[in-house]
This record gives sequence, C-alpha cells and structure tokens, in this order.
Amino acid sequence: MATALPVVGTLHRLLPLHAANALGGTFPSPNHGPRRDGASPSLVVIHYTAMADCAAAQRVLCDPATEVSAHYLIAPNGSVTALVPEDRRAWHAGRGSWGSLMDINSHSIGIELSNTGFAPFAAPLMDALCDLLPGILSRWSIPPHRVIGHSDMAPGRKIDPGPGFDWARLAKSGLAVTANPGPLPAYDASALGAALRLIGYPDLPLDTVLPAFRLRHRPRYGGPADALDLALATDLAHRFPAP
Ligand SMILES: [Zn+2]
Repeated sequence: MATALPVVGTLHRLLPLHAANALGGTFPSPNHGPRRDGASPSLVVIHYTAMADCAAAQRVLCDPATEVSAHYLIAPNGSVTALVPEDRRAWHAGRGSWGSLMDINSHSIGIELSNTGFAPFAAPLMDALCDLLPGILSRWSIPPHRVIGHSDMAPGRKIDPGPGFDWARLAKSGLAVTANPGPLPAYDASALGAALRLIGYPDLPLDTVLPAFRLRHRPRYGGPADALDLALATDLAHRFPAP
C-alpha cells in the first residue's frame, strides 16, 4: 500500500511538504471539491481516526463511497501522507460551526491523527504534527488560536481529538493556545455561555458546549460548571474572540 501512495514520511523533514507531494505526483483521496465562495483556510481542525489501523483509516479516507477525507493523515510512526491538496475543500468536518463560519470544510485544513481514541498519541506522531503545523500556519496566515479540535466545532456530536491530546505541547510551540485564567470570578452561567460563544463555540446549550470546552481546557473534569470554567473561558474570549 505504501508503495502506491505518496507517503512523504521523513522526506518532509528535508523538503517543504508541497515539494514532497509534487515528487509523489498525486494525492490519493478523491474526496474533495472546490472551496466555496472563494474561501481560503483560516482554521486547522485536528481529528483522530478512531481506528486501530492507520492503513485501514487511509483506505476509508480515500474511498469515494465514504465521502470523507482530510488533507493529511499522520501515522503512529510519524509518517505524514498528504491526501488532499491544501487549496481544495476536504470533507472532514461535517456539521458544526466556529464563530460566524458555518461551512468549516471550506475554511479549514483537516488533519487526521491515527489513534483509537483510547491509547496515548504516539510520540513520533506528535513530533510529526509539530513539524507539519508551522508550514500550514505560515502558508495560510493562520494564527495559533485558530488550531481547534473537531470537538470544538461540533460539540455533542464529536469528541476527537479527545482528552488525551497534548494541547499544552502545541501551545508551548506556538501552534495552539491554552487559557491563562485570572482571579476566579463569581460563577455566572450566562456569562460562561457568552464567553464560550465569543471564543467561537456553537450557540448550543451550556451542557452540550461545556464538555467540549473542557476536553481541551479541563480534560477529564466532570464536576458542575463553576468559576474556573468561567475564568478560563473569559480569558480566551478576551484574547481570542472569533470573528
Ligand atoms: Zn473528527
């Protein structure tokens, strides 16, 4: 399988990915179309495949019958496969929104990480992601706070990349953001809902959106909504409001 596909693997450490892809010749997934209304990517959406086998995930992402894809698939060994050209609309996000954007596929680059959703993300996979992201952010002028999880734009429907994803590592490398909460305010449910909407979360009930927010900012915390949630969300809403 690898011989038939443009697996760029370690090559991408030596060449820009687009150059590596040009050497590979083609992108193996047919599941893409033009970005609508002249949109260009302003978000990166991180996923996991929820499959044990990266090769099987790649087959799914390249099968015209499934009508799903992503721009990149990263294997546990760190090999990166470019499935869809960055300027095309890959079909990874589905229903959801971020700020005023409703057609997330037209406005994003999708990255699938090969992971079951239950095991830790492999170290070579995380290294490869941290190698891949800077080029994407630079090519499309995407700021770090616009790197989000699938769960962020589709609360209640999607949970990937899940509570085990190392957002802090991305933030340390300037490839995502984490919250820096100030002093704890008095808890106020409507203020929390407003802050989450300002960050970009869809306008859905708090008990749907808060678990998605916590997947990133308070992973595995299951208590009732509280002042720390509000402090975390207020900080992000203040610094990074979504248009
Ligand atoms: Zn996903």
